[in-house]
Amino acid sequence: MRRRVLIIGGGVSGLFLGSLIGDGVRIIEEHSVIGFPEHCTGIISTNTLYRMRLPRRLVEDSYRRFILYFYGGYRIVISGSPLAVKVDRPGVEKELYYRALDEGAEIVLGERVEDIASDGRISLNGGLVKGELVVLAEGYKQYFSRKLGLVRKSRRIPAIQARIRGQVNIRDVEVYFSSLTPKYFSWLVPIGDREAVIGLAAEEKGLLTRLQLLLKVLEKTGRISSYKITKIYGGLVLRGPLGELTRDRVVAIGDSIGMVKPLTGGGLYPISIAGLILSKLIKSYLNGSMSLLELREEYSSRVEKMLKNLRVTYNLLNIIDFRVEDYLRVIAKGLNRIGLETVIDEVEYDDHLKNLLTALKPKNIVRLTGSMITGFI
Ligand SMILES: Cc1cc2nc3c(=O)[nH]c(=O)nc-3n(C[C@H](O)[C@H](O)[C@H](O)COP(=O)(O)OP(=O)(O)OC[C@H]3O[C@@H](n4cnc5c(N)ncnc54)[C@H](O)[C@@H]3O)c2cc1C
Repeated sequence: MRRRVLIIGGGVSGLFLGSLIGDGVRIIEEHSVIGFPEHCTGIISTNTLYRMRLPRRLVEDSYRRFILYFYGGYRIVISGSPLAVKVDRPGVEKELYYRALDEGAEIVLGERVEDIASDGRISLNGGLVKGELVVLAEGYKQYFSRKLGLVRKSRRIPAIQARIRGQVNIRDVEVYFSSLTPKYFSWLVPIGDREAVIGLAAEEKGLLTRLQLLLKVLEKTGRISSYKITKIYGGLVLRGPLGELTRDRVVAIGDSIGMVKPLTGGGLYPISIAGLILSKLIKSYLNGSMSLLELREEYSSRVEKMLKNLRVTYNLLNIIDFRVEDYLRVIAKGLNRIGLETVIDEVEYDDHLKNLLTALKPKNIVRLTGSMITGFI
C-alpha cells in the first residue's frame, strides 16, 4: 500500500502506533538506532504492560511496594499486587520496531523531519513529502506541536539517572522527597539484588552533583554497596499541561503534546490507551470506512475520559504549584504518629485522580484527616 500516513518520531508512541497499523504507514526517526538515546526508567503498571502486549522477557523486575520517604524520616507505603513492573525500555522500542516491520510499516532511520505544515506536507532531506495524515510523535522537544499551536506551554524538569551494578539491599522501589529535588523527587529502583536505577529530577542546577550526593547517601544508609555505575542517562520529564490532539491533517500523541501523568511524568500509560484508540481509527480511515473529520472527532471523544483525568490532576497540582511533598509529608507524619503507613490499601498505579477520590471516601477520610491533623500538630 502507498504510505499514506507519516509518523514523525520512532519513539514508543510512533512505534506502538506503527506496530498496530502496519501497512500504509511510514515512520521517520532521526536517530539511527532504535531505543537510543535512552531516557526513561521504564516503570509501568501491569495493565499498561498487557495493553501494549509486551512479552514477559522485557520485564526486568516487579514490585509490590513503593515507599515514599520524607524529611524527618516519615514514610508512606503504597502497595499493589504487583503495583508496577520495570521494563527494559530500549528492549520495548526494539520489540515494537520489529512488530511494526512485520505488520508492513516502513521505518526510515537516521532522517530528521525539518518542517511540517498542518495540511500534511513535511520537509525531509530538502524535499517535500505529502501525507494524507501526519502523526506527531516527536516527543518532549515539542518543536512542531508548538509551531502548529497544539502546545503553548509545558512543565518540564531535567532528570538524570545512573544504572548501577553491585550489592542492592532493598526489594521495594524507594522514592525520596527532599531538599535535593524541590517540587519533584529522587528514586531507587532495584533490579534484583545486583542492579538498580537511581535517579532524580530537579529544576535547580548541578544535576550530576546531586546524583553523586544521592548515591553517597544511599551507600551510607546501606541500601547499595560495592557498586559501579554502568551507564548514566536522562532527559526531560514532562508534567503537562495536555495540548490539543489534532489540527487539520495532523494528529498528535505522547510527549509531543504533554500526554503524561502530571504527578510523575509517566507517559506509557496514556500512550498505551491513546495508541490503541488512534490506531483503530487510522485503520478505519485507511480502509475508507471513516473520513478524516470523523477520525479527528472520534480520537478526541474516545480518549476524553483519560485526558480529563490528566487535566484535572494537572490543574489540582498547579494550584499547589506542584509542591506535593509539603502535603504528603504532613500526611506521612500524621500517619506514622498514629502507627500507620498507608492511606488506601490498593493503589491504582496509573490513575492518580482515582486514588485521591478513594482517599476521600468515607472509610478512608477519617484516616486521612486524622493523619493530617496529627501531622500539623
Ligand atoms: C528520566 C525519565 C524517566 C521516565 N520514566 C518513566 C517511567 O518510569 N514510566 C513511564 O511511563 N514514563 C516515563 N518517562 C516518560 C516516558 O519516557 C515518555 O513519556 C515517553 O518516552 C514518550 O514517548 P514518545 O514516543 O512520545 O516520545 P520520545 O520517547 O521522546 O520519542 C520521540 C521520538 O521522536 C524522534 N524525533 C523528534 N523529532 C524528530 C524529527 N524532527 N524527525 C524525526 N524524528 C524525530 C526522537 O528522536 C524520538 O526518538 C520518563 C521520562 C524521563 C525523562
